[in-house]
Amino acid sequence: MHGHIHPVDDSVEHDTSTTEATCVCGPRVQPVERDDGSVGWLIVHHSLDGRERREGAS
Ligand SMILES: [Zn+2]
Repeated sequence: MHGHIHPVDDSVEHDTSTTEATCVCGPRVQPVERDDGSVGWLIVHHSLDGRERREGAS
């Protein structure tokens, strides 16, 4: 089982149909522990319009 976190109404289309992090935005994959103790994978997408790009901003 897997999930995706992706920006809604982004300027690009995110590929959330796969269990691989193959989207054009270069998502990162993050392990998440579920209530039953098993580990699932969450694919965290980045918005390409810069909304989440705050590196170096003062
Ligand atoms: Zn994406």
